[in-house]
Amino acid sequence: MLNFSSDFGGSGFTPLVSPETFPDQRGGGHTVDLLEYQGKQFFATYGIPVSDGAATDNVDEAVAIADRVGYPVVVKAQVHTGGRGKAGGVKLANDADECRLHASNILGLDIKGHIVQTIWIEHASDIAEEYYASFTLDRSAKKYLGMLSAQGGVEIETVAEENPDAIAKIWIDPVDGLSEAVCRAWVLAAQLNPAATDGAVDILRKLYTAYVEGDADLCEINPLILTPTGQVHALDAKVSLDANAVYEHPDYGQYDETQPRDDREEAAHAKGLQYVGLEGSVGVIANGAGLAMSTVDVINQVGGKPANFLDIGGGANADVMAGALEVINNDPNVKAIFINIFGGITRGEEVANGIVEAMGRVDLDSPIVIRLDGTNADEGRAILAPHLSDKLMMEPTMLDAARKAVALAKA
Ligand code: GDP
Ligand code: MN
Repeated sequence: MLNFSSDFGGSGFTPLVSPETFPDQRGGGHTVDLLEYQGKQFFATYGIPVSDGAATDNVDEAVAIADRVGYPVVVKAQVHTGGRGKAGGVKLANDADECRLHASNILGLDIKGHIVQTIWIEHASDIAEEYYASFTLDRSAKKYLGMLSAQGGVEIETVAEENPDAIAKIWIDPVDGLSEAVCRAWVLAAQLNPAATDGAVDILRKLYTAYVEGDADLCEINPLILTPTGQVHALDAKVSLDANAVYEHPDYGQYDETQPRDDREEAAHAKGLQYVGLEGSVGVIANGAGLAMSTVDVINQVGGKPANFLDIGGGANADVMAGALEVINNDPNVKAIFINIFGGITRGEEVANGIVEAMGRVDLDSPIVIRLDGTNADEGRAILAPHLSDKLMMEPTMLDAARKAVALAKA
């Protein structure tokens, strides 16, 4: 039950990667992603200490908020992506003039393709130390996974890579919950400043309650800070709610308006395709949800980043294939396309003909790597053979094809 360790207890894929890059399909439903200020308001309802502040979309109001909460203030871009600090989306203001300047600079700023429409102004905190804390679900262990680190403020993926021992992990059986004693042992294992222990235990237990009772998929505080006067406090909030549970929480309707729109998903869904947009550079087309999921995982495994999940189901004909290629081709992040087909009811030669015809219809920017196996794969490969070039490649196995596509995407 209680398990402090730096590996993931025998699961084939690290939960750090899969739920993050692929939240929807593994969750069996979509998530509702909160902006920082919504996450802080969510936290506050569970008694987690956050700074006094308010959100706005205009500069005059930003100054009025700053006057009310008291200087210095922090002006923070509200977008559905992290790393805002590095991108110039988090600025300290000591007076009204600085607040006005930062507010006008940050509103309209493009942060990784997200245009800032809302800013959050809060009273600035003094920071002695920055920590990291989160709860998520380890699906393979069927337990909640708590992660706590004395190395906060930076991306947790970086800590996980460079210094995995600096993350104290705890697997919590939902039946047991997180007792005070267990939580304290976890905090001690993370080796925070002793002055932070009591405050951290209190916040982590409240965060756990928020995670469970709020039906969240992810609750993350980075940084969780210790102030010079010994207060522990949430300075950032990343919350994803399980969309399947929305009907149990009527107030979650308030988040509809601020949900990020993914143009790729809208275009794909309009074509009737099972598509989920991801952030990477390898476009994925596969037949069957299971194979599509494995394709996404294998791309991650060989060091690449999938741009999407796309299951074309049984219909690997030219129309479906052309539609799928069009959607993927319109994604500017895509640098290579991996078509992974295992012929079953849909036979290899039908798939091959569909691909050849679709390629004639869509003017592709990226090379395609195909892995074709299953029923009539030999016939299908024979059809593709005369069309092979540096724009259309074939590999014998899923792993070979993934490696090839990832290499092309990085080239
Ligand atoms: P992110 O970059 O999107 O994760 O945005 P954060 O909300 O985590 O802010 C980035 C960094 O800005 C934090 O790690 C802090 O170092 C700094 N920061 C944010 N709020 C405050 C504050 O109230 N006071 C001080 N001194 N620094 C802050
Ligand atoms: Mn942060």
